[in-house]
Amino acid sequence: MGPRSRGWRCSFENSGLTARGIEYRDKAGHLQQVTAAKEIILSAGAVGSPHLLMLSGIGPRRELETAGIRCKLDSPHVGKHLKDHAEVGMVYSAPGIGTPLMELGLSAGPDNLRGPHGPFPQDPADDVNLPPELRELKTEAERRLMDWAETGSGLASSSIYDGIAFFSTGLGDTHTHDGQIGFIPTCFGADLLQDRIFYDLDQYFDDPQKRLAPDAENVLFLASNCVPRSEGEINILSADPACAPEINFNYFSDPHDLKVMVAIMRRVLAIAAHWPGGLGEWLVPPKLAEIHGYIPGEDPSDALLESCALYFAATVYHLSCTCRIGDVVDARLKVKGVANLRVADASVMPDIPSGNINAPSMMIGERASDLIWADHALSRTPAMA
Ligand SMILES: Cc1cc2nc3c(=O)[nH]c(=O)nc-3n(C[C@H](O)[C@H](O)[C@H](O)COP(=O)(O)OP(=O)(O)OC[C@H]3O[C@@H](n4cnc5c(N)ncnc54)[C@H](O)[C@@H]3O)c2cc1C
Repeated sequence: MGPRSRGWRCSFENSGLTARGIEYRDKAGHLQQVTAAKEIILSAGAVGSPHLLMLSGIGPRRELETAGIRCKLDSPHVGKHLKDHAEVGMVYSAPGIGTPLMELGLSAGPDNLRGPHGPFPQDPADDVNLPPELRELKTEAERRLMDWAETGSGLASSSIYDGIAFFSTGLGDTHTHDGQIGFIPTCFGADLLQDRIFYDLDQYFDDPQKRLAPDAENVLFLASNCVPRSEGEINILSADPACAPEINFNYFSDPHDLKVMVAIMRRVLAIAAHWPGGLGEWLVPPKLAEIHGYIPGEDPSDALLESCALYFAATVYHLSCTCRIGDVVDARLKVKGVANLRVADASVMPDIPSGNINAPSMMIGERASDLIWADHALSRTPAMA
């Protein structure tokens, strides 16, 4: 499949559901076909894999037909049971403790501070025209980058995700943890909060300009329920492969998840209250503070924490379980009811792991590789074993 392919459909032989090949559009927009010698392995992720199965006629019959797709296999669980970790960001003002964004930017070198958001020109060739104060800033950024390259220390060596706590809230299975708190010693910039975490900054902060100024000193706690019970779904909207499916996260549809989230947010409040030397105030979204009569410094009500979670929970990008083992694929990751078609990605997870899911996704890839080698009676050369 070309790197720019825009979705494909499986083609089947007429006599039964055996996957024979794929169709895709190349960069020029021409439809291409590839025939598989042995089998097709679908690894398009928890959104892409169910979408491509549905485009190929494998999925919930009624939904496929509504989208104008002929159903070849009624597989009702395709695209269902979507799980993700949602997180709620709690920003604290932290004078003398939080790391200003400008400090982070400088420590990562001048190229990290280029336009359109940074003070340096987008094209390094234009640096010849820098005014003296920016030239000084650039020299400092170069010095810090060099320092990091030589010593491996300094701010540039930080992942920014500086601390993490896993714990049990006691509300779920007490044999495992269900709470995760991440600690970031800054609060990111407007572009990241807006474009990646999808915060409406005017709703989230009383004064976004001031709170996100390059010299502002804040810290950010990320509260996340890592054993969610709520399930969402991927809905197909059109038979056109270029039309993205709808992602319905459905966070907090199971009330248990909201209770757990409130407990995790309370743990953040406790950590902040015990911070050596003390943190500043939790920057409660102003509208919610007004609605719930929040007085700074006082304990927020459960209702305020719930509202904060409902309005500001955002994806951790851990989408999974939409082609889960048992329902859509079997234990060898083969699509049930179709020969020569396997899925290998986070969509096959039977449930979401209670932590970050990149490593488990890679393990699925490794396991899939073993299964494929074994099923085709292939033997690996020693270098690949
Ligand atoms: C912004 C972000 C930050 C993250 N941070 C972390 C983290 O810190 N730690 C962690 O553990 N996990 C993190 N994750 C999650 C982790 O990256 C995923 O869980 C993991 O990559 C899932 O692997 P996958 O193989 O299921 O899907 P993906 O890695 O998404 O791979 C699917 C591939 O299929 C391609 N594709 C999809 N549809 C089509 C199509 N129609 N035609 C052709 N190609 C297609 C996609 O382009 C992609 O390359 C993060 C994810 C994101 C988005």
